[in-house]
Amino acid sequence: MVLGFALLVALLATGWTATLRDAAYIGSRQHYTIAVFFYVGLLTVVAKLLGLGFDYYGFRLEHRFQLSNQKFGSWAKDELKGWAVGLVIATILVELLYLTIRFSPQYWWLIAWGAFMVLFVFFAQIAPVVLFPLFYKFKPLENEPLKERLIRLSERAKTRVRGVYEWKLSEKSRKANAALTGLGATRRIILADTLLHNYSDDEIEAILAHELGHHVHRHIPKGILVQGAITFIGFWLGNAVLHYAIDRRHMFETLSDFANLPLLMLVSTVLSLLLMPALNAYSRYNERQADRYSLLSIPAVQPFITSMNKLADQNLAERAPSEWVEWLFHSHPAISKRIAMAEAWGKKG
Ligand SMILES: [Zn+2]
Repeated sequence: MVLGFALLVALLATGWTATLRDAAYIGSRQHYTIAVFFYVGLLTVVAKLLGLGFDYYGFRLEHRFQLSNQKFGSWAKDELKGWAVGLVIATILVELLYLTIRFSPQYWWLIAWGAFMVLFVFFAQIAPVVLFPLFYKFKPLENEPLKERLIRLSERAKTRVRGVYEWKLSEKSRKANAALTGLGATRRIILADTLLHNYSDDEIEAILAHELGHHVHRHIPKGILVQGAITFIGFWLGNAVLHYAIDRRHMFETLSDFANLPLLMLVSTVLSLLLMPALNAYSRYNERQADRYSLLSIPAVQPFITSMNKLADQNLAERAPSEWVEWLFHSHPAISKRIAMAEAWGKKG
């Protein structure tokens, strides 16, 4: 986070962003749209090179604690793929951004916000069928007793989840995970094979019920609404800051000068940093809701508690982080608190 922030500030303070823009113009023979693409490409290369040391450190760290079994070659391939996917998405977003700026200098931020939200929904929808399979294999769950349990859970909830998929996580990781992903026709629960192979059916049912809780409480659509509101503020603020930089500080000549991109990114970075505690609190609230749903749906609390303990051990989770670490960074409540809630629930009968 600090490095990304420092890069943006350095680009703006030193004028390197203008140097990059000029290089992009020369490379594209003064063609605006191609120059934007080159500029984004150069920026993602610089950012990737700067972050490479930390990425490799993360890879080594997971191996040191036996959390990962991924080979270096496979990791390097994933890093490259991740960078390429990031470049494609960033190019689409930035081209669209400067197209709207040129099309409507007055209302660009409003139009771009609308277009970004459409794309956001689109990406949420295609992620489980297009993006995730670039990195992991998935196949429909074959465990019949588990499928029957899920159908029973869904019927009680008067809802339907389109599918449950086995996520081949074991090829790369020793950790376990489960999630609800997608939108509409791609909405699905994914369960890591590392979970399916080491947990009892009762424990998996408790985890399935938690994911179903996210579905029943409509956490994905609600999350998109929250993102929409924040992005709206971000675009409005971005427009105000750009005008200040151009009209008052004369940092750039025009709105459409894409050398101002780091300034827009800085606005979005600062906004997300400021909102991080609030968004994490919102996420923890949703997780507690999904936990309660799980406890309500399963016949006994014990499998919920043992699955939490297993997950904590397997993923080397910090069971009881300090309050302020949890408050700032954690999207899920501390495992100790989740277990305490289940125990209290059990006592209540
Ligand atoms: Zn959850």
